[in-house]
Amino acid sequence: MGFRLAVIGAGWSGLAAALEALALGAEVTLFEMAPAAGGRARDLNAGSDDGLDNGQHICIGAYSETLRLMATVGVAEGDAFLRLPLRLVDARGLGLRLPSGQAMPAFIRGALGRRGWSFPQGAFPHGQTGTPEELARTELAQETGLRAVRLQRLGVLAVAHGMASQYGEHWLATDLTQGEPDLEPEELGLRHAWVSRDEFETMTRDGRIVDSATLAAYALLLMAERRGEVSLR
Ligand SMILES: Cc1cc2nc3c(=O)[nH]c(=O)nc-3n(C[C@H](O)[C@H](O)[C@H](O)COP(=O)(O)OP(=O)(O)OC[C@H]3O[C@@H](n4cnc5c(N)ncnc54)[C@H](O)[C@@H]3O)c2cc1C
Repeated sequence: MGFRLAVIGAGWSGLAAALEALALGAEVTLFEMAPAAGGRARDLNAGSDDGLDNGQHICIGAYSETLRLMATVGVAEGDAFLRLPLRLVDARGLGLRLPSGQAMPAFIRGALGRRGWSFPQGAFPHGQTGTPEELARTELAQETGLRAVRLQRLGVLAVAHGMASQYGEHWLATDLTQGEPDLEPEELGLRHAWVSRDEFETMTRDGRIVDSATLAAYALLLMAERRGEVSLR
């Protein structure tokens, strides 16, 4: 095509743009202000004993253009990367670990593996509002099919005090009748079950219940019972 092009910056994007332009027949001049190419993914003192590999440390399989660019410049994926099922874990080892296999089924299996038990809870969908009591009734009915004649407010607590401005109101639902759940798409596969108090407390000890809002609601219930404001036994 025979045109001249200046590319500023020799990071991943500048290098990729320069290569694409070269393939189209351009005469490319690449400007880079740092001593070496690579941008935020460059090696520092590459090849020396105190060299530091600044990245890319994680390249997910969906980076198909990155993989295509590597193939274009002759880098074999197997030489540059160790291919593993996706893991997003923090320093304590907590987070998401997908099993091996095709991406979508593996993601679903991995996400389902992180599920636990909790009391029904939720927030209004974007653009909808209402009272906390209406929300409590809606979530209870949607997730479990239960309709409550009586809702008694147990209290309001911060979801993550000092870290987030989100609060949750906790309600005790009584005089229940069973109907059909009306699950939202992201709740499909959600199950509900009745458990005794002893079983509930066992579940909090053995890790089947890890939801802090559920534990907070239970604590509010116990305190309300102690004050004689509710009686369920
Ligand atoms: C420590 C670290 C770890 C990372 N780990 C991962 C990871 O595991 N997985 C992942 O996907 N991403 C990771 N990233 C992010 C990833 O490295 C960047 O998103 C990617 O390198 C950005 O490429 P870029 O070309 O868009 O920009 P940059 O890499 O920032 O490149 C821009 C280039 O332009 C040059 N430049 C800017 N202005 C001028 C100018 N006026 N004249 C000349 N040159 C100029 C800069 O010097 C630089 O070289 C990491 C980043 C860091 C810092």
